[in-house]
Amino acid sequence: MENLPILQDLDKPRDHCGVMAVWGHPKAAELTYLGLYALQHRGQESAGIVSSDGEKLYPHRGMGLLGDVFRDQSSFQQLPGSSAIGHVRYSTTGSSSLANVQPILVNTKDGPVAIGHNGNLTNAVSLRAELEKKGAIFQTTSDSELFVHLIARSNKPTLPERLQEAMLELKGAFSVVLISRDEIIAARDPHGFRPLCMGRKGDTIGFASETCALDILGLPYERDVKAGEILSVSARGMESLQYAEPNLNLCVFELIYFARPDSHIYETSVDKVRRKLGKILAEEHPADADVVISIPDSSNTSALGYARQSGIKYEIGLIRNHYIGRTFINPSQFMRSYNSRIKYNPVRGVLEGRRVVVVDDSIVRGTTMKKLVGMIRQAGAKEVHIRIASPPVRWPCFYGMDYPTRKELIAAFATPKEIEEFLGVDSLRHLSIEGMLASTRDKPTNYCTACFSGVYPVALTDPAQLAELVEPDKAWAKAELERVLRSIE
Ligand code: SF4
Repeated sequence: MENLPILQDLDKPRDHCGVMAVWGHPKAAELTYLGLYALQHRGQESAGIVSSDGEKLYPHRGMGLLGDVFRDQSSFQQLPGSSAIGHVRYSTTGSSSLANVQPILVNTKDGPVAIGHNGNLTNAVSLRAELEKKGAIFQTTSDSELFVHLIARSNKPTLPERLQEAMLELKGAFSVVLISRDEIIAARDPHGFRPLCMGRKGDTIGFASETCALDILGLPYERDVKAGEILSVSARGMESLQYAEPNLNLCVFELIYFARPDSHIYETSVDKVRRKLGKILAEEHPADADVVISIPDSSNTSALGYARQSGIKYEIGLIRNHYIGRTFINPSQFMRSYNSRIKYNPVRGVLEGRRVVVVDDSIVRGTTMKKLVGMIRQAGAKEVHIRIASPPVRWPCFYGMDYPTRKELIAAFATPKEIEEFLGVDSLRHLSIEGMLASTRDKPTNYCTACFSGVYPVALTDPAQLAELVEPDKAWAKAELERVLRSIE
């Protein structure tokens, strides 16, 4: 914890990955870059693109933000061809190192193949051990490498069929894009945990984690890649292979926090869902207050929904510094003491003498929220009422979100009263699971709610994962929380 980067928000699950693919454009790599730019919120640790000119695959990958990896136009001269795939990553499985940067590129007996993966495989440990026993040599610690090993072992005649064989062995969450010399493929697991959409204009086809990436390219959204579908594009045109029956468990947290509000995912507007989350939150948990504020930016829309439903005025009470980059990574202890103040600053004129409702999308550890409450009080707020547009996060995610372990989730070991006291607020209320699901478009049973309910739709078998589910030791967890708090003070 001592090396905790300043400004890393411990109150949020860290983002995971974003994928992008472009077919049928002479500047495919540049379009992929632009699409990834719109997906940068999904992963900031590393980025990469692999292109094809029909003869060879060309990779360019590196650590850092897209702007660090693709510094100038010369990067694209090394990425020729009319098809490309790209990936932005936050490591959920496997360490943060250059070897794990995606797309992962391998040579198979049928030619080179590269893959970009968003999600987490739940049977990665056992499958890897099994393949190693059969002689497979892994080059990365990432679970995504399993795809390419399984594809390379398949004797099926086409890449979509080889991928199908691979995917039938894999369990968990995966939305993937693949590229070979003459084909690109987009595919989703049968549960559809992670989003993946498709757009088209003329001969150019794009696949992306979110529609905001298609928007930037001017590719009108056409449809989602279906759960359990392998969609391939080649000189033969577009071909769909429904390799497994859909059994939907869409990640509801994508709608609450991860996806951009200007995106459509799961065929629904993220903006509309977030407004409704705020509206139902106001119905379930009204507050006697003068002003509603959000924690920018992810809770802006749900705060608007809360304000509209409650009739309490929405104001901008916290300003977020948008120019924070990697400059502040590895700060001194002295600089870390300014942590929350560098990221947020309160607007005294909005808060002073007021009873304030603070709407946020989620609380994971509670440390950042505690800091913000202190700042809001210092700015003169008379009362602080926290309203959270999701239920308490009590369980870790094994499907692609990097939640802390159970003992680091404040709602997993502290009572609501204890959390109120820890945060120093007048009241704290969460949206119910029913209220959350009522905000969405699909049937409630089509969503994964495991991190709120503890009901895991894909069975966990890995002993390390099962160990994360045990009841946390309360005294230890509280002491640890205080230690984390001190380390960022
Ligand atoms: S456990 Fe939570 S974050 Fe993970 S897939 Fe399910 S809803 Fe999403």
